[in-house]
Amino acid sequence: MNTIQIKDKKFSLSIPEVEIQAAVRKVAEAINHDIAEKNPLFICVLNGAFMFAGDLMKNVSIPCEITFVKLSSYEGLYSSGSVKEIIGLNESVVGRNVVVVEDIVDTGVTMERILSSLRAKGANDIRVATFLQKPDALQRDIKIDYVAMQIPNDFIVGYGLDYDGYGRNLKDIYTVVSE
Ligand code: 5GP
Ligand code: MG
Ligand code: MG
Repeated sequence: MNTIQIKDKKFSLSIPEVEIQAAVRKVAEAINHDIAEKNPLFICVLNGAFMFAGDLMKNVSIPCEITFVKLSSYEGLYSSGSVKEIIGLNESVVGRNVVVVEDIVDTGVTMERILSSLRAKGANDIRVATFLQKPDALQRDIKIDYVAMQIPNDFIVGYGLDYDGYGRNLKDIYTVVSE
């Protein structure tokens, strides 16, 4: 199906599963190459990154740990601009190589907040792996080490990303159709 309805919005298919999977495998290969000896701690940012993290980690073949944190900054179609505290990071990051695994870097406000928190907690080397990036929306000076795909500045759902809680289960990416 190329068009779907979620609540009051129509969405059309924009990135099919095969393209997503190929792009995710490339990120995993780059990580395998870059930090093989670093015993990294991957930090998956819930909820949105759960699907990317699952597929990514199946293709990461180096010794590593994986953990999960949660925070929220987004309501409906627009970023609220405020990010709540990181919840659930029980592991010490002191002196460690960490890789933050995110669904999407939009304005960069969320990632800036995560990065400053990890720096304050004493992480040694902090890398960012994001499934999607909207280059035109970036408002913060942050270094993003791994990007699976870049997309235009439109609202999308699927592959972990939601519209008002729905659509996370879709295996393809859909873009909102503006009326
Ligand atoms: P930022 O702080 O970079 O502006 O926004 C980051 C968060 O906003 C992401 O982790 C994601 O939850 C949400 N977000 C940004 N753009 C989109 C989008 O196009 N679709 C969905 N579903 N969420 C988005
Ligand atoms: Mg996110
Ligand atoms: Mg959301």
